[in-house]
Amino acid sequence: MKITAHTKLTGLFGHPAGHSLSPVFMNALFEHAGIDARYFAFDILPSHIGEAVHGLKVLGFAGVNVTIPHKRTVFNVVDRLSEDASAIGAVNCIVISQGVLEGHNTDHLGFMWPLRKAGLQGKNEPALIIGSGGAARAVLYALVRSGVEVVRIANRTASHAHTLIEWAEKTLGVHTIRFEGDPARLDEALLRQSRLVVNTTPVGMFPDIGACPLPAGARFSEGQTVYDLIYNPQQTRLLRLAREAGARTINGLEMLVVQGLFSASLWFPQSREKIMMQRSLLIQRLGEYTHAQTL
Ligand code: NAP
Repeated sequence: MKITAHTKLTGLFGHPAGHSLSPVFMNALFEHAGIDARYFAFDILPSHIGEAVHGLKVLGFAGVNVTIPHKRTVFNVVDRLSEDASAIGAVNCIVISQGVLEGHNTDHLGFMWPLRKAGLQGKNEPALIIGSGGAARAVLYALVRSGVEVVRIANRTASHAHTLIEWAEKTLGVHTIRFEGDPARLDEALLRQSRLVVNTTPVGMFPDIGACPLPAGARFSEGQTVYDLIYNPQQTRLLRLAREAGARTINGLEMLVVQGLFSASLWFPQSREKIMMQRSLLIQRLGEYTHAQTL
């Protein structure tokens, strides 16, 4: 589709933004779904994010995604918040609707998609979250909302884990979340008890693909699901360990694509069905840009 005066603008606000794969699959999405729009990556300094967000209104953008380090700042800048964004305390998608800036969060929807698809909500099954940053918060929100009651948190910095747990108690009303210390020294028995293990740290991400957030001798077993939010490489060292032990593995590619599909559906609601249909194609397309193999 040719760019004309009617072509809608969308994009990503991040810092840095040059490494982002979002323009690759979001522009492919618009092309395949027949939407007259383009998606650009904008590298915006933290000191300029407020101005950039307000500029969206006057430039006529349909919306943008927001990534590190702006998700929490944007939360305080938009005019209105969705229920999910308000509870999570972070915005990863802005919609400009009749001149009003709406802040949404679609990360938790992207995270849950592969688990739901595989029938792996595991209401009564204990989950272990490695990490306590922004992604961990969206993951914890998604798991608690889907009914998971027993969640363990392992994080390098204890105070960050306690902040996450306090937020969950206050905002989500759950009091069954425990801090289990540093993931690098995690107890073997605790790992065995966890039906779902989710890595939300960047440990193992390209180029440091030899790294693993768990101790060197960590063992998994069949019946466990190990989910790594990292998508480059597609198979991290953590996922390889899990796969070799017969556990089910999920990488971050589908989460990335699905949060983008939900964002695009908010910007172009009339094309929602066509947008959601492009999931498999986009995962495949994005996979070509990542490292398929680990060590
Ligand atoms: P963040 O807010 O900066 O949090 C990072 C977390 O990782 C913190 O808990 C931090 O621990 C921990 N961590 C960082 N470096 C570590 C290290 N060397 N050793 C041990 N722990 C370490 O980042 P985020 O937004 O949560 O993102 C985290 C990861 O998730 C990134 O890899 C990102 O690409 C991925 N992600 C993927 C998707 C997707 O769609 N697939 C979406 C969102 C995020 P401390 O508290 O000790 O600092």
